[in-house]
Amino acid sequence: MDSGAVNSAKDLANLQHEIGALAKRQGDLEDIVLEIMERLESAQARVVEMTARRDAAHSTAEAEARRDAATAEIDAEVAKVTRERETVAVVIPADLMKLYTKLRQSQGGVGAARLFQRRCEGCRVELSITDLREVRSAAPDTVVRCENCARILIRTSDSGL
Ligand SMILES: [Zn+2]
Repeated sequence: MDSGAVNSAKDLANLQHEIGALAKRQGDLEDIVLEIMERLESAQARVVEMTARRDAAHSTAEAEARRDAATAEIDAEVAKVTRERETVAVVIPADLMKLYTKLRQSQGGVGAARLFQRRCEGCRVELSITDLREVRSAAPDTVVRCENCARILIRTSDSGL
């Protein structure tokens, strides 16, 4: 227009109209680009959020799997120990079983303890020379008990007798 290449007033008006239309079109396109960028940012934020949630769910599932495995292991151990206890319980004389049960209740769940190197493993007290002599002279099938905590003493080759 400034160069004078467009001469007629009509051409000039057409060109100005076209420029106006292009400017409007450019403005519209810029608005569309802005909107798309906003949607992209929103989508990216959502990806970050969903990734974090997926990772959290994954670690929760792993923890649950570990817990379930541990529970199954404990259940199996309980079943095994219960079977062993039942096997042992049938061969123990009734009066001894009664004494053991009573002691177990009064002594924090431990009714019998190993006598290990002259020490009661129930209360950790070392037996006196007199008590050791008594235990030593007792018949193998005699029930011997700790003078300190009253628990049944289990004699083994490591008892220090
Ligand atoms: Zn004891």
